[in-house]
Amino acid sequence: MYQWREIEAGGAGVAVMPRGFSPSLAAPRPWSLVVDLADDLFSARWWQGAATLALLCGTAGMLAPRAEPLVAAPAGQPSAAAAREYRDIGITSLDAGSRSGPRLVANQQVEPLLVAPERAQVELGVRIGAGDRIDHLLIRSGALPLDAVRVAGLVHRAAPRGIDPGTAIAIRLGGREPGGLRSIERVALRAGLDVGLVIVRGAQGLVASATHIAIDERPRRIRGRVGDGLYWSLRGSGVTPQAAADYLKALATKLDVGADLGPDDRFDLVIAHRRAATGEEQGGPLLYAGIDRVGGGAIQMLKWTLGGRTAWFDAASLSQISSTALAWPVSGPITSGFGMRYHPILHFARMHKGIDFGVRWGSPIVASADGVVSRAGWAGGYGRQVRLAHAAGIATSYSHMSRMVVEPGTIVRQGQLIGYVGTSGLSTGAHLHYETYRGGVAVNPRSVRFTGAAAVDPAEAARFKARLAQLLATGRS
Ligand SMILES: [Zn+2]
Repeated sequence: MYQWREIEAGGAGVAVMPRGFSPSLAAPRPWSLVVDLADDLFSARWWQGAATLALLCGTAGMLAPRAEPLVAAPAGQPSAAAAREYRDIGITSLDAGSRSGPRLVANQQVEPLLVAPERAQVELGVRIGAGDRIDHLLIRSGALPLDAVRVAGLVHRAAPRGIDPGTAIAIRLGGREPGGLRSIERVALRAGLDVGLVIVRGAQGLVASATHIAIDERPRRIRGRVGDGLYWSLRGSGVTPQAAADYLKALATKLDVGADLGPDDRFDLVIAHRRAATGEEQGGPLLYAGIDRVGGGAIQMLKWTLGGRTAWFDAASLSQISSTALAWPVSGPITSGFGMRYHPILHFARMHKGIDFGVRWGSPIVASADGVVSRAGWAGGYGRQVRLAHAAGIATSYSHMSRMVVEPGTIVRQGQLIGYVGTSGLSTGAHLHYETYRGGVAVNPRSVRFTGAAAVDPAEAARFKARLAQLLATGRS
């Protein structure tokens, strides 16, 4: 889109076109392929443009391929005999006169059937869908509602937690009652992997009887080579997506799964598994996560509950089971570690008593561990600072905050938001200065672990080792 601009030319006030505007006011060029047919009607230039357009349209029309209707079906009608045969052997709707195939002509052996006999029994095989109800399913199958509700009650008594979606149900319906629905004679289904349930109509009406099916409860042990990718190697060995994800999560607490594993390392998993005597199988949760590294030795982990906390624990460091490291308060790179540093503002070397995280202004800061807020306020060069007191004489502080969201006395849980990153106090830019103290003395945060309070009871350690040995011994390959 162009815009007119009034340009003062030497004070004369003459309107001048901006550069690059339409050249229509310029002298007409002698010949052009493109002519504006709205200008200079019937001039020589107009006729020349019109002739060019006509020539181009004519050429395009001559070169264009011919358009002809496509033949969709052979022309012509079949003969009367062919039409009758088409109708007899073809599948046509009944209202179009279909007889669904040629009829037999009545003779001594064949006589026309005037009434179709009613089937005395109907056998159905159905599967229950997710969110479906067994009484609804039976009514949809043509059973009497009263019978369907009775069967649903019996099934519920045998399997109070409900039956799994996809369970096969064999139904036998009896003769048709007035109203078109049928009574239920027999229903057979699996009320669980280990219970077969049969409901039969007897002298006292519908009665259920359950049969116990033997189950092999031995877990499965799956071992193999890590190869090009651990996840797909696991899946290729028959590990379910859920168990594979749990395994990677467990390993990730001990090593960097992406970087620390080589193709010749070997994975080792034990997964809960149930197999019924009739052949059905049911996978369960991951019980044991192990890896045997060519370079770095073996890791053996079990899911274990200790002090009310269930997590993956490493068998090799049983003595450290209860020692939990502090969680980092922010996610970001460490820009300055614990130790002697040259201070950029004070211009002399001094002890850096904490760790600096280079994170953006306004990033959330969370508590490293459960504890209570011992102070929250301005602390000189530290700016806005929150200090937390934890168990076993350990404390942490978070400095240069832009905003604090806790007050002295607040009880915080590990991972709870306490404030936001800023650059308050003696600071050259947004970062978090994080300190930890043991008995009031600043120590390297990387060295702090909570031990002692929940030291592993030797009996617990023995149970852990026994469970590990049992799983590795009983796991079927
Ligand atoms: Zn610092």
